[in-house]
Amino acid sequence: KTLPYFCRGEVVRGFGRGSKELGIRTANFSEGVVDSFPSDISTGIYYGWACVGSGDVHKMVLSIGWNPYYKNVKKSVETHIIHTFKEDFYGEILSIIIVGYIRPEQNFDSLDALIAAIQHDIEEAKNLLDLPEHQKFKDDNFFHTVN
Ligand code: ADP
Ligand code: MG
Repeated sequence: KTLPYFCRGEVVRGFGRGSKELGIRTANFSEGVVDSFPSDISTGIYYGWACVGSGDVHKMVLSIGWNPYYKNVKKSVETHIIHTFKEDFYGEILSIIIVGYIRPEQNFDSLDALIAAIQHDIEEAKNLLDLPEHQKFKDDNFFHTVN
């Protein structure tokens, strides 16, 4: 069993692929962090908890997908934190705990359909993370461990 999955790494620049037009920003992990993911974690949309540096812990949705830049042989892992930040946090350390799976990767006929699906994922994540069995990870020591 791979979940919950604990992961920490630097936030790097992605390719701005869509997320700015979508209004849904995704913090990308470096290639090294992505390579260290267990190979049996399948692509798709997940939910969990996230913390930037030594900041507060917030709900998040996460996409594990194929990275077209690397001709789809490399995965990309992108975290959308359900919180409004005052500033970008490139170069900072992002800590996440992935606690559950929402759905597989999907293609959409339109941008509107994609945005609707993501908004739906965010609502789903918010609700699921209120369950006691998921809430406990918000207070996990992992988020308070400096390394
Ligand atoms: P990129 O292609 O560089 O990942 P994005 O448009 O996806 O560009 O923006 C991601 C960046 O936005 C993150 O690396 C982070 O610095 C910043 N950011 C601001 N708010 C958030 C948020 N709520 N969730 C994720 N990233 C955010
Ligand atoms: Mg991104």
